[in-house]
Amino acid sequence: MLRDRKLFPVWRGIWARGGSSGGWTETWERCLRWDSPAARRGVGPIWLVLCRGGRATLTQVCERGRGAIGLPSHLRVLPPLFNIHQVPKVVQEDSIMSGYRDPYSTALDCVLSSFQIHNETINIWTHFLPTWYFVWRLAVLCSCLDFGSDPYCWPLLVYMLLICVYPFTSSCAHTFSAMSTETYHICFFFDYGALSLYSLGCAISYGHYVMPECWVNSGLQRWFVPVALLNSLFCTSLSCYSRFVELWDPQRSKVLRTAAFVVPFIFDTMPLFYRIVLCCGGGCTHTQALSSHCYHLVFAFLTCFLFTSHLPERLAPGRFDYFGHSHQLFHVSAVVGTHFQMEGVLADMLSRRSWLLDHGGPPSFLWTIGALLMGLVLNLLIIGLFSGLLLWKRSGHFPLFFKKTVKD
Ligand SMILES: [Zn+2]
Repeated sequence: MLRDRKLFPVWRGIWARGGSSGGWTETWERCLRWDSPAARRGVGPIWLVLCRGGRATLTQVCERGRGAIGLPSHLRVLPPLFNIHQVPKVVQEDSIMSGYRDPYSTALDCVLSSFQIHNETINIWTHFLPTWYFVWRLAVLCSCLDFGSDPYCWPLLVYMLLICVYPFTSSCAHTFSAMSTETYHICFFFDYGALSLYSLGCAISYGHYVMPECWVNSGLQRWFVPVALLNSLFCTSLSCYSRFVELWDPQRSKVLRTAAFVVPFIFDTMPLFYRIVLCCGGGCTHTQALSSHCYHLVFAFLTCFLFTSHLPERLAPGRFDYFGHSHQLFHVSAVVGTHFQMEGVLADMLSRRSWLLDHGGPPSFLWTIGALLMGLVLNLLIIGLFSGLLLWKRSGHFPLFFKKTVKD
């Protein structure tokens, strides 16, 4: 073996699961197997057992040894991918059978993995690229609207900021979720927090620009944003809590998480539903804004359907692992829906300006930018609380309330 100068077999080896039964353990036992050509002469296969950090060390050694053993540069192999039985239960996705990244990757591995095809690649890019589309739209608006001193534009500013933040946070969550089981949960805590802030942004823009005329200056309008703020805290808390329930009762977890997002959606969309119902009864003029709002609603329902149904991968498990699974379609549908929503909000904001200012007055700082700041701080506190509970559980001092609900 040494005589053959093949001391660094990592490029040609395959990763295999350690242990003969059970899943991954806290000790992170893994084996690296190398099938030597010498095996045909009765040597090998050769097994290396890697402990925590072993893979990184071995990779470093291999990189340093590349010159010494004369490996050609094109033999730099991508990190191995795993099938569903080789990763912890917590990161397994319904009907996604392969293409999982190493669940204990480094941050750099995670960033580099976004250029490798695995079952999260499209999830990362379907929210990363739209982020820059929304940033570009915001930049264009900044050049033609006076966000600094025109209070009428503040609800739009809050909304535009949040539609840039939520896809970016989601993209980061999908990128860095492969660092550990705890990181996996914490990444999605942030994802849920950003989504619930986005729902607050929708409420702020709808409450100021989309309200039907008969609701302007009503008690409902005055309480619309404060209630939406409470909804966003409820949404983040319930969706984060649903991750604790997931391994104990996946069905219940899915119901909780869906409810966490559907409740604020229904509340935020009430003014829009009312305007559409009025229009259906002939009580309004059909506008470009209303068409965009209707397209948005179609995509919002499609997004919810894709999130809950896990179609198409449920029909053919393993067939859509890399391309076309429901989470990718869910991302695309959410972004297209957000695009139409933004067009609807912009059209309403520009076309109703004088009427809304005459009848409702300018938006207040407190319930636009102030509400955003309050929502941001309180949501971060909730995420911090759930992250703390998760790490506390890892250290063995876990509150009784969650004890029965978490297994990994
Ligand atoms: Zn996602």
